[in-house]
Amino acid sequence: MNTEQARERIRKLREEVERHRLLYHSHDAPEISDEAYDSLFHELLRLEETYPQFRSDTSPTTRVGGDPLDRFEKVRHASRQWSFDDIFDGDELRAWDERVRKWLLKAGVMTDPTYCCELKIDGLKVVLTYEDGDFVRGATRGDGEVGEDATRNLRTIQSIPLVLARPLSMTVIGEAWLPEAERARINREREAAGEPPFANVRNAAAGSIRQLDSKVTASRRLDSFAYDIDSIEGVPVPDTQIGELELLRDLGFNVNPNFRRCTTLAEVEEYYREWTDRRHDLPYALDGIVIKVDARNMQETLGYTAKAPRFAIAYKFPAEEATTVVEDIGIQVGRTGVLTPVAHLRPVRIAGTVVSRATLHNADEIARLGVRIGDTVIIRKAGDIIPEILGVVTNLRSGTEREFHMPDECPICGGAVARRAVDEKGGRSSVALYCANPKCFAVELEKIIHAVSRKGFDIDGLGEKIVEQLLNEGLISDMADIFDLTEGDLLPLERFGEKSVANLVAAIGNAKKIPFRRFVYSLGIRHVGEESAILIAEHLHELFPKRLAGLKDIAERFPSVTPERWAEIPGFGEKSGRSLANWFNDEANIRLLGKFVEFGVETVFPKADVLRKEGVFSGKSIVVTGTLSRFTRDEAKDIIRKNGGHPSGSVSAKTDFVLAGEDAGSKLSKAEELGVHVLSEDEFLGMIG
Ligand code: ZN
Repeated sequence: MNTEQARERIRKLREEVERHRLLYHSHDAPEISDEAYDSLFHELLRLEETYPQFRSDTSPTTRVGGDPLDRFEKVRHASRQWSFDDIFDGDELRAWDERVRKWLLKAGVMTDPTYCCELKIDGLKVVLTYEDGDFVRGATRGDGEVGEDATRNLRTIQSIPLVLARPLSMTVIGEAWLPEAERARINREREAAGEPPFANVRNAAAGSIRQLDSKVTASRRLDSFAYDIDSIEGVPVPDTQIGELELLRDLGFNVNPNFRRCTTLAEVEEYYREWTDRRHDLPYALDGIVIKVDARNMQETLGYTAKAPRFAIAYKFPAEEATTVVEDIGIQVGRTGVLTPVAHLRPVRIAGTVVSRATLHNADEIARLGVRIGDTVIIRKAGDIIPEILGVVTNLRSGTEREFHMPDECPICGGAVARRAVDEKGGRSSVALYCANPKCFAVELEKIIHAVSRKGFDIDGLGEKIVEQLLNEGLISDMADIFDLTEGDLLPLERFGEKSVANLVAAIGNAKKIPFRRFVYSLGIRHVGEESAILIAEHLHELFPKRLAGLKDIAERFPSVTPERWAEIPGFGEKSGRSLANWFNDEANIRLLGKFVEFGVETVFPKADVLRKEGVFSGKSIVVTGTLSRFTRDEAKDIIRKNGGHPSGSVSAKTDFVLAGEDAGSKLSKAEELGVHVLSEDEFLGMIG
């Protein structure tokens, strides 16, 4: 991105972030989720950091939201309602723990802190005031100092006690929340009434509580959890957070039962991991956990910074939505021949892993989303679910985006494309495109398996079954795509665990640097096997007197080599010459080479004489057959090359030797028939000394 593009992107991001902020805070009608909003907000922050010359006092990054609306009566909170600082990973957690310990030591506290871990409910924070045990006022948090009076609406929530078990005067902090099923029900009603749906449960809870008509609120099954005592009269404040939760429960509040006392940081991390996995099993939404120093006296010692309490922290779960750019749209041909468009994304971290692919299903889905190549999109990945594109941030378009159309011919085999109506879930029907060539999938599968095999890219853990799965899921459509895969692409697949994914991604990374001859072999060019690839490598210097610098040169300079020139390589004939020239003059193949370059594959070119040294077999053609006892056939071929010889696959009158092991079959008989010299393993070893 150049400076001018950055300035334009910053300007558009500001407009878009501000628009969504207003929709959220002032109209209760967000169009995108909080996480997608955060993703845009953070891109803006990062750009403003990189390009400080474009900073501005009116940028939305200079302001934090929460202005109360005028239509509700405002309430000034008796004490400031803090929000917690957020952390996102284990390093930040350890840093916070260290700060807590240091601060306590400095204050002369000699005991180690223990922590109370609680679930962080994704709802609307509420402040509940009781006088002599009666519920007298409920307010939203607002900006922390001034909230909105929502007493009438909060009364409708069954789990908020109207009279406490004891006649206490106190202020209690809690969270009002709405079950996902209830949000779905409300959204159906809203859509039927022509109103915009709620984007998530938090907005649905907020929208339900900030309702002028409390009958509407009452009709919605809101629930609540209480988790903190802000002030209390007549009885001492419990001396731990856990004691507070227990008192709240005894007084009649709904207290989430999943809190846990943790004495070590390892236990805190275990709690976090456990709930990262279990969060989708609950009727309420979570966006993280809250960790508080349990002892009240320690909390008081630690106190507050200008922004937040020092004694507590919110440890957020990995975001399940983010924004990124669609860099390309590819076509995947599945096992059944169906053509499926797949978005190739600028790699983006979601739910803890990096994702680079998302299926677009079919032409109808592309039309529904209105997605174009180059668009900024919102992408979601929850739990074990395959990532999906939720929508396009059309206001960020620069005008260079391109529309995508389904192809008329199969991008893999070039064959005709057929149309067939299919029924989808929900009774809708749509048109699917098929490649009419029944062998199409199998051919591409074969090619990719050949490419990653031991003599090619040699990628550990990428067996036939897995290649088939990747191809069928649309994660790859050709061999180059393998090098664009990320952990997040693979994790949702069956058979893949975190460890096997990490191993495979590492193996793919290692395979990116490949000797030239193995790269040529992996391309699977007809009549160009392992030995031909080595011959090309050996004669590169004659074919290209000006040294080749990289894979890019292969794409640029190989197409100009004529079939006749290829055929001049010793051991080559007309057939291999034509095959090579055809391959390097096919546009689709040049695109494939371009993708290898783009995904960071590098070929290592041989120095003049590394592959084959002068030796006892110089100029000799040798066929290896049967089972050898001292080495494998491949090892024998390497020995032949290192001694100047040319291993060959078939016996002919031109063959100089046949090295025959146990159970040698037709090749041995042919050698005997033609009178070719047959070598035993001992004779062979004797020759090379
Ligand atoms: Zn096809």
